Amino acid sequence: MLIITDNHMHLYNHLRLKALKQFRQAGGTHVFLVSLLSHHYGIHPSGGRDFRVMFDEHIKLVRKANEIVKAYAVLSVHPAEITILSKRWGADRAGEIMKEAIDVAGEYVTQGKAVAIKSGRPHYKVSDHIWKVSNEVMMHSFAVAREADCPVQLHTESYTKEGMEEIARMADRTGIRRDRVIKHFAPARVDEFSETGLFPSVIAMGENAIKAASQGDRFVLETDYIDDRNRPGSVLGPKTVPKKINMLLNSGFDEDFVMRICRDNVEWIYGIEIE
Ligand SMILES: [Zn+2]
Repeated sequence: MLIITDNHMHLYNHLRLKALKQFRQAGGTHVFLVSLLSHHYGIHPSGGRDFRVMFDEHIKLVRKANEIVKAYAVLSVHPAEITILSKRWGADRAGEIMKEAIDVAGEYVTQGKAVAIKSGRPHYKVSDHIWKVSNEVMMHSFAVAREADCPVQLHTESYTKEGMEEIARMADRTGIRRDRVIKHFAPARVDEFSETGLFPSVIAMGENAIKAASQGDRFVLETDYIDDRNRPGSVLGPKTVPKKINMLLNSGFDEDFVMRICRDNVEWIYGIEIE
C-alpha cells in the first residue's frame, strides 16, 4: 500500500473529522494532528497544568481521527502563547508557564499518548526580552524532547539559513539530534536543510513538492490545514498532500521515492513504525 503522510494538520471548528475523510478519499493514509493555541480551547492558563485540559481534548480527537486514517498527536505549546500570556503574567512568568506546559507534553509523550512536541519562537517582531525568553522556552522543548525521545516540530520566524543554523547550535547544546528538530512550514530548500541538519516539513504550496523532490528525498510534506471556518481551505486544503504526491508520481518520481518521504523519513524522525 502506498503511504501518503501529511506531517502537520489541525482540526478546529470547520470540517473537523470530515477533513480527514477528504484526505483519505484523495489517497492520504497518515496524518500528524497538531493542537492549537490555548484560547482555541477557551483556556486561559495560569500554569502548565492548565494545558492538560487541551492536550487531553486533543488526544481524544486524535483517537477519533484514527477511525478514519492513521493519526498521531503532536502537542503544541505555540510560541505565540508568549504574547498572550505576557499580557497577564509578564514575560518571565509566561515563559515559565510555557516550560511547565512543555514538561506536561513530554510526560504525555513518555506515556505514549503523543509522538512529538511543538515549540519554536514568534514569527512576528517582539521585544528583545520576549525574544530571549522565547529562545529559552524553545531550548527547554529540545531538552524535554530529548528526554522523552521524540522530535520537536518548530514554528519559527520566516526561514533564513542563518536562523536555522542558530537553532541547530541551540539544539546541540541540549543533545537532541538535529534531524529531530523539524522545521514546520519549511520552504523547498532541501539542500540547505541537509547542510544545517534540521529536518524540513515542506509546505506543499505551488511547486514546492517538485522543487523539494528535485533536491533529494530528505523532507516530509505538510498542508498546515487550519480548519478554521473563517478561513476555509487555509493554509492548504486537506487533499493537497495526496494531490502533490500524485503530481510527483506523474513527474517521474516512483513509489519507492514516495515511500522514502512518507514512510521512511517519518519513521526515522519520530522513531515510530508506519504500517
Ligand atoms: Zn500549524
